Amino acid sequence: MTAIATLGSHCALQVLKGAKDEGIKTILVCEKKREKLYKRFPFIDELILVDSFVEVLDQKCQQTLEQNDSVLIPHGTLIAQMSSEQIESIKTPIFGNKWILRWEADREKKEQLMREANLPMPRPVLNPNEISNLVIVKRQGAAGGKGYFMATSEEDYNTKRNELILQGIISKDESLYIQEYAAGVLAYLQFFYSPLKEELEFFGADQRHESDIEGLARIPSEQQLKNKKVPSFNVIGNSPLVLRESLLDEVYTMGDNFVEAAKKRVAPGMNGPFCIEGVYDENAKFTSFEFSARIVAGTNIYMDGSPYYSLLYNEPMSMGKRIAREIKNAKEANQLDKITT
Ligand code: ATP
Repeated sequence: MTAIATLGSHCALQVLKGAKDEGIKTILVCEKKREKLYKRFPFIDELILVDSFVEVLDQKCQQTLEQNDSVLIPHGTLIAQMSSEQIESIKTPIFGNKWILRWEADREKKEQLMREANLPMPRPVLNPNEISNLVIVKRQGAAGGKGYFMATSEEDYNTKRNELILQGIISKDESLYIQEYAAGVLAYLQFFYSPLKEELEFFGADQRHESDIEGLARIPSEQQLKNKKVPSFNVIGNSPLVLRESLLDEVYTMGDNFVEAAKKRVAPGMNGPFCIEGVYDENAKFTSFEFSARIVAGTNIYMDGSPYYSLLYNEPMSMGKRIAREIKNAKEANQLDKITT
């Protein structure tokens, strides 16, 4: 008997609902403060209550997961709250490739892999004194856009950085990553690669809604200028995006290239769900500023199936259910080791 387990946050609901739909036992590692929330959902079979998610590393938690022959589905919360070393030390089999999560968390490694995949990227700016155009300044890891800011010069950079340090949002010794700002339509491209079928599937696209940068468009520029607060890119939610069909071919090529690059750089490759994140400019040219090497929360908008999956599957298929299907197929074929690390 295999169980599917995940941490109670991010996309846990669709992951566990998808598992249940596939007839697999579901386990949620749940912070005590969220017990009431998750108990509302009947498809969660078992809660492992913890004070904090790092307890997933403890013997007690791992034992329960092992007894249930669990596969752990990693998502953004795991990456945000644990170091790469901690994630790699988890004994429970992790769906996909846990080694590639380090490449997502480390900006330098991330850039290397994106370059290998031939993804067009915004130019990195190595030193604040080299800022000449509009740039975006980011923190390390998956910070979800919190504490990010834009700057147009070194002076502007220092003023905003100092302000965020004063507010306690970033720390003084934190190394920040500067990148040219790419203007256009944001698109987060969601994929699934099956090592069982050796096939890439395009699941869908979404847009993120980020506060309070997005709200600025509703405020006249005179008032914007009077407001001295540094706007942030904190994700609040996601909404669906359907691309022009003429863009799809390039989308698949980018996905294929990424899978190939991951195979070369970080064995066993980019197995399972992943996302390439970027911007389409006025000429429909895509620039990618980021990837996520695991399920993204943007897939939550398609809990009943995405437009593109309705073309591939004759049944409602969420990303959570797709993951569970892969686990079920692997289990039946005695190939769980092919889809977990
Ligand atoms: P995640 O939660 O996906 O791991 P993250 O903390 O790694 O996020 P990014 O996805 O790189 O951060 O950036 C957060 C947001 O900042 C993006 O959703 C986008 O709105 C904006 N952004 C990032 N880089 C750029 C860029 N080069 N040009 C324009 N906007 C950008």
